[in-house]
Amino acid sequence: PDRLTTPERRTEDADAALRPKSLDEFVGQKGARENLRIFIDAAKKRGDALDHVLFFGPPGLGKTTLAGIIARELGVGFRATSGPVIAKSGDLAALLTNLEEGDVLFIDEIHRLNPAVEEILYPAMEDRALDIMVGEGPSARSVRIDLPPFTLVGATTRQGLLATPLRDRFGIPVRLNFYEVEELELVVTRAAGLLDAPLAKDGAHEIAKRSRGTPRVAGRLLRRVRDFAQAEDAASIDAATADRALTRLEIDALGLDAMDRRYLTMIADLYGGGPVGVETLAAGLSEPRDTIEDVIEPYLIQLGLIARTARGRQLNGRGWTHLGLTPPSDTQNGLF
Ligand code: ADP
Repeated sequence: PDRLTTPERRTEDADAALRPKSLDEFVGQKGARENLRIFIDAAKKRGDALDHVLFFGPPGLGKTTLAGIIARELGVGFRATSGPVIAKSGDLAALLTNLEEGDVLFIDEIHRLNPAVEEILYPAMEDRALDIMVGEGPSARSVRIDLPPFTLVGATTRQGLLATPLRDRFGIPVRLNFYEVEELELVVTRAAGLLDAPLAKDGAHEIAKRSRGTPRVAGRLLRRVRDFAQAEDAASIDAATADRALTRLEIDALGLDAMDRRYLTMIADLYGGGPVGVETLAAGLSEPRDTIEDVIEPYLIQLGLIARTARGRQLNGRGWTHLGLTPPSDTQNGLF
């Protein structure tokens, strides 16, 4: 999807340049940060590898960034890969046997590992061992190879996407939540400094407010707003400049983009406010169900515009209001 606010990674993002490099530089997620600090310090004191960490939450909230920070704070090597990239168990075995003592192995989208590969991971995580089959036919046998102590950091959008045996092997599960506006103000202000963009305080507020609670979106919107400001020869990026730019980009006051509004409008217009099943919405919007559930819906739910019910998605009173519509009087969805 090419929506501007999609939190999914885009190559143009140059995300790497804006990545905070230490826990202290990392904005927000206070609880997660404090816990990680304790676990990292304890592992260092013991001289042992940190227990395996699982980050879960919507895309763009800092999972990859935190994985890198963990390695840096531990003073160990960092290897990164992702679930769909590891095609065969041999690929994972190669990665694992090349790790050095204490290293962090980051697997993004770990819920998309193929099951045969996942099998390899279980003994690796639990016993620091690799069971490899050698030979074929009746002479085939399993050989156990010891691995150095290492930390697996996995990232996924929803914890429930992982098979229970995999989930259970992570000693440190960490949920990442959408950021507060004030936190995103810090994120864009810091990014503006790195980009040498003249961002005014009220400009930072305007961008933060419209970033869907997501640092990656905030960074992307900052870049686009800066382009508009440069085209206008604006001396500084203030709230008015930001508002003009974001409005041109069809980002509304709540930070919703055209796709979010299509989603809401579809429930309102075609299904009378719902409930309507997610598969139906996915088909109607021509978007994969995963994108609907992992990217579009979490923020709309957070804002209270929609609800997930047992019978499907339902537009709340606030959802109707945001679309400038009046809920039909016979609906029971007055859940504000
Ligand atoms: P995820 O892995 O959850 O999809 P990333 O770690 O790739 O997200 O972060 C996306 C972008 O947002 C990166 O450019 C990163 O620098 C920025 N970012 C994420 N979290 C923070 C934060 N807490 N403070 C500052 N920048 C952040």
